[in-house]
Amino acid sequence: MEKRQVYLDYGATTPVKKEVLDAMIPYFTEHFGNPSSLYTQGQEAKHAIDIAREQVAALIGAEPREIFFTGTGSEADNWAIIETALANQKKGKHIITSTIEHHAILHTGDYLETLGFEVTYIGVDSDGFIKLDELEAAIRPDTTIISIMYANNEIGTIEPIEKIAAIAKKHGIAFHTDAVQALGNLHIDVKKLGVDLLSMSAHKIYGPKGVGALYIRKGYQLPTHIHGGGQENRKRAGTENLAGIVGFGKAAELARENLVEHIEQERHLRDYFIEQVLQQIDDVQVNGSLESRLPGNVNITFKYIEGEALLLFLDMKGIAISTGSACSSASLTPSHVLTAIGVPVEQIHGSIRVSIGDFTTKEDLDYTIEALKESVAKLRNISSVSSSSGW
Ligand SMILES: *Cc1c(COP(=O)(O)O)cnc(C)c1O
Repeated sequence: MEKRQVYLDYGATTPVKKEVLDAMIPYFTEHFGNPSSLYTQGQEAKHAIDIAREQVAALIGAEPREIFFTGTGSEADNWAIIETALANQKKGKHIITSTIEHHAILHTGDYLETLGFEVTYIGVDSDGFIKLDELEAAIRPDTTIISIMYANNEIGTIEPIEKIAAIAKKHGIAFHTDAVQALGNLHIDVKKLGVDLLSMSAHKIYGPKGVGALYIRKGYQLPTHIHGGGQENRKRAGTENLAGIVGFGKAAELARENLVEHIEQERHLRDYFIEQVLQQIDDVQVNGSLESRLPGNVNITFKYIEGEALLLFLDMKGIAISTGSACSSASLTPSHVLTAIGVPVEQIHGSIRVSIGDFTTKEDLDYTIEALKESVAKLRNISSVSSSSGW
């Protein structure tokens, strides 16, 4: 097979779509005004941000005034949790999250622990679903916020957010969800979900890197996150990333328009890929739920090999995938998510994430399956030689 470039790491980031880039460019050059300036150029920039706010709001069923732009999805996560925790210290210093969150949540929890807060991590079942009974039992009079991700970045499991939000509400506790992976991949309706806070990021939905947003439910009191000027309704100071926000808006609009076909196409490709891999390669296991799963996510264990070695073999063939999560791929600590769903440690080391996106073709997947067959066979050969020689 002729070598090609195949990008299968849409869960880590996505390319900026041409329509998005085209929408952004004028805001670097002719429409460069500061949105806080009162003359026409400034007001035009402000107007462009208003439009983007409407576009992002429409994607999740929110009102534009409930959308606050941030620098990243990580920043939105930090803001939601830290400021809620600090503002409610009189009530208590206990927060609840899960064992499978993104590091933007887990490390924020670690930080709050250094400030004297207590964090409870709820476990998941073998498909990655939050244990709702464990969650309910963990709630205490001093619990101030529950944060559970909408969809997992490694194994794609979609959590029952509506049910979790209802539990939080019943106990009068704020509820935040990290929806960075869910955005543009599921129908999201914040009103129906009943969430107080929801994090988003542009670069996972074909928008630019370095721009995110936090949905703050109307009436929810979340303190200011960055102090300074009056931007973002005085909650997040600093001159706006104008072109980035315009790009996020355009990406959100495209995501909303194409949502149904996008989901269908990804699901179709994902199921084809899983089916072919299971058929053509032995000793393979799919991790995570097969039903309630992000349309483009595949997480597979190839027994008896190292995922990092497989990643490098595939890279030589022009294929980009990841092992566990992008952040932990530089280290050899086994994925906390695969650990949480009970995958044995030696199998975690043989696991990869393949994430499909809008530019993935069936030919890309066929090429990848061929490369996988060859690479897995080679690696298994090496490992059987090394184990029989006693290494
Ligand atoms: C990518 C990601 C983030 C971080 O978003 P950034 O904009 O890259 O900071 C947070 N949570 C999840 C689930 C993600 O996949």
